Amino acid sequence: MSETSEKINLLGLSPSKMEAFFAELGEKKFRAQQMLKWIHQFGEADFEKMTNMGKGLRAKLAEISEIRLPEVVYEDISADGTRKWVMRMPGGSSIETVYIPEKDRGTLCVSSQIGCSLDCSFCSTGKQGFNRDLTVAEIIGQVYVAAMSFHAPGERRERKITNVVMMGMGEPLLNFDNVVDAMQLMMDDNAYGLSKRRVTISTSGVVPMLDKLGDVIDVSLAVSLHAPNDALRDQLVPLNRKYPIKELIAATNRYLNKLADRRKATIEYTMIENVNDSLEHAQELSELMKQVPCKINLIPFNPFPNSGYKRPSNNRVYRFRDYLLSQNHIVTIRSTRGDDIDAACGQLVGRVDDRTRRSAKYINAVQLDSNQ
Ligand code: SAH
Ligand code: SF4
Repeated sequence: MSETSEKINLLGLSPSKMEAFFAELGEKKFRAQQMLKWIHQFGEADFEKMTNMGKGLRAKLAEISEIRLPEVVYEDISADGTRKWVMRMPGGSSIETVYIPEKDRGTLCVSSQIGCSLDCSFCSTGKQGFNRDLTVAEIIGQVYVAAMSFHAPGERRERKITNVVMMGMGEPLLNFDNVVDAMQLMMDDNAYGLSKRRVTISTSGVVPMLDKLGDVIDVSLAVSLHAPNDALRDQLVPLNRKYPIKELIAATNRYLNKLADRRKATIEYTMIENVNDSLEHAQELSELMKQVPCKINLIPFNPFPNSGYKRPSNNRVYRFRDYLLSQNHIVTIRSTRGDDIDAACGQLVGRVDDRTRRSAKYINAVQLDSNQ
């Protein structure tokens, strides 16, 4: 289908919007459930093959709607099982999606925007600026592509993806409605059926939107803190000047209190050498983290050209972690999986405006693939 198609893309309809769509056609609720299953569980994009829908309905659907999938321009599997996809968006920019397998789970890292407006000083997405929000179809399309990569077309998919984290490109709370609809699909039993504990939204701290989020959906929360005081956080995460740490922690607690069960927030702390990785920072962080039920995830900084920052030595990371552990915090260090395809989550590069910026590496890779 052309990018300018005016047909409704059913890939991007949340469960309630799918029901409304079929209701308008005079069809019952179960049709919406059937359609969700065809698309998200069987990967079927051809209405003619949807044999449990009547002939007349199939013809009507083909006339007014379509199932338009993202265009995958690059796919790679690294030695450790990590997978990466680059998807080209209408307009030419591209986004990245990464799948990271672990012993007991498989995590997909999903993007919410092309670029990001918040300009955190250590983030390559932020350095590229903001291009646009992704649509619901483009967000859930990343899950679709990853899920379908594990099975043959038309077969019911296997449950390889157990967790989704909104930690790719972009600030998900600034693309609120589309991200909420996509997460509804991730959790719907007729689509991906993920548990609410295993769908995580990551935010750098858009406080009003965090309050709104708790009113409409129940998903797990990761907060990108990165600094234990406002002076430092103002430099690393400019949004902090608008919503300082105290307000962010209060909003995090309000959010956790709205959840149906007792759940901790994940506090993300990207460690940058000689910037936020000293023992004094660990002490300050430890005091702060007593104010919120949380697990602390330390992310060694992932260097990129001209960032001006360095990744701390392992010893410095362990020293920081050990101090927090000694204060009875729950602490993990994010392992840098998939380094051979530079794919680990939270360090996605993506390309904003492909004509000027898409790297030769991708173009070569695509050509190589098609020669095989
Ligand atoms: N905008 C959201 C989600 C996307 S970023 C947010 O900021 O939370 C996902 C995570 O990766 C964030 O915790 C972010 O701070 C981290 N991150 C960004 N750039 C990084 C880098 N160069 N090295 C390590 N972690 C990085
Ligand atoms: Fe945006 Fe998150 Fe990167 Fe900050 S860390 S610039 S909020 S994507």
